[in-house]
Amino acid sequence: MKKYILSIDQGTTSSRVVLYDNKFNICSIVQKEFKQYFPKDGWVEHDALEIWKDTKFLISKLIKKNRLNPFQIISIGITNQRETTVLWNKKTGKPINKAIVWQDRRTSDYCKKLKNFKKDILIQKITGLVLDPYFSATKIKWILDNNPKAKKILNENNLLFGTIDSWLLWNLTQGKSHLTDITNASRTMIFDSKKEEWSNTLLRLFNIPKSILPRVVENAYNFGTTRLFGGNIEIGGMAGDQQSATIGQACFNTGQSKSTYGTGCFLLMNIGNKFKSSSNKLLTTVAYKIKGKKMYCYEGSIFVAGSAIQWLRDKMSFFKEANKSDLLYSKANLEENITFVPALTGLGAPYWEPNVRGAIFGITRNTSKEDIIKATIDSLSFQTLDLIKAMQKDSKIKIREMRVDGGMINNNNFLQSLSNVTQIKIIKPKNIETTSLGVAYLAALNSGIIKNTKQIEKLWKQNKIANPKISKKKLTPLIKKWNKTIKVLITLNS
Ligand code: ADP
Repeated sequence: MKKYILSIDQGTTSSRVVLYDNKFNICSIVQKEFKQYFPKDGWVEHDALEIWKDTKFLISKLIKKNRLNPFQIISIGITNQRETTVLWNKKTGKPINKAIVWQDRRTSDYCKKLKNFKKDILIQKITGLVLDPYFSATKIKWILDNNPKAKKILNENNLLFGTIDSWLLWNLTQGKSHLTDITNASRTMIFDSKKEEWSNTLLRLFNIPKSILPRVVENAYNFGTTRLFGGNIEIGGMAGDQQSATIGQACFNTGQSKSTYGTGCFLLMNIGNKFKSSSNKLLTTVAYKIKGKKMYCYEGSIFVAGSAIQWLRDKMSFFKEANKSDLLYSKANLEENITFVPALTGLGAPYWEPNVRGAIFGITRNTSKEDIIKATIDSLSFQTLDLIKAMQKDSKIKIREMRVDGGMINNNNFLQSLSNVTQIKIIKPKNIETTSLGVAYLAALNSGIIKNTKQIEKLWKQNKIANPKISKKKLTPLIKKWNKTIKVLITLNS
């Protein structure tokens, strides 16, 4: 009988479950969108119970659809939206609040206060992160301070915290495993990723009790067993979504990098086994720990990537489907030199200017929608270049090629633009489902189907390569113009 690995990919807007055969071919995918809650300006919440119910439903659906016997599933991997915070009562199994999502900015003022006390320096030293509401720590504190039930449940010793990985695992194992993996832990802003332990200093700073925290383990591990689907199925792999994609892209060597272009863009570069803080506003996080070997990466994110394409589609009505942007790009007038900074929700790394908003510069009587589409797509190449420059400065390693994935890389003009502007080789892999693939590999490593990361490197196959096709002479003035535009925009908004 054929054997399979099942990947749970719990994202920000939808949950997916992907079935892989033991050669890591995708056999089946099921997906469900779930509700987003925006109770106040800047607040974003999810119903953790809905997420769990959807996940359980999707696993059952996949098993049924493929007529699987549960013993055919060798192992389960879990990858997830990172930082999103759940606090629950272990007695009732119910969350005590809506989950506070990574995008939620309700703790901005508190973070500013901490910054005034220079706590950002301490935080970066211990966690590698830039002090920001994005990470779990201030979200946990907010729930503890604002939910009157929290204290009582805590005093009864029934309160638990977890990011979505822990929450799903705890439910899958019916309360037996309260664990998280090192990549998810490294996004909480209370985890010392050098010492690999919860930081007592930061727990004191945020007034978070240690008793609510999950135990932190490696990425390929015996996380527990689920008995909810008619047999005993092991959960053997776990990692945050971007780290999982880094594993799915087989970036196991120092200097290798991957960039995912979905709603937002996340560029991660493997920097080796030594923790290094960034001087250029990048994050240092754990890339993975497999069989005792821990690797770190620098991470930079662009808040608006594919969502800029959605904006052109939905608000500008420039096209009906995102893939039409590719053809329209080809029709742009190359004389029309406009620059678009699509900072629709602020600028991420390496600028960290959340209050800046977008602008288009250089519009003439001739500017057409095709020109604006081209400028939007090119802007992601320029923003990627800025991230690459910051990573090279911090790591002193030259990036020569980059592996890419995510919805936007279906756009061939984007691939070429990315290579032209960054002047490096851009490689699209055969399987672009790298997020779910990463934890499938981890689960396979734990169950012994895969022996080591070298084997994963061999499984990784390239599909398409873009090499630079523009001369440096032509490119230099364009980069100068981009840099000037960013400066002007930041000054305008300050
Ligand atoms: P996420 O995982 O964040 O939901 P995906 O990786 O599924 O994102 O990618 C979806 C995004 O990619 C959307 O924002 C969409 O606008 C964009 N996209 C999809 N196809 C194309 C294309 N051919 N050209 C440009 N953008 C695209």
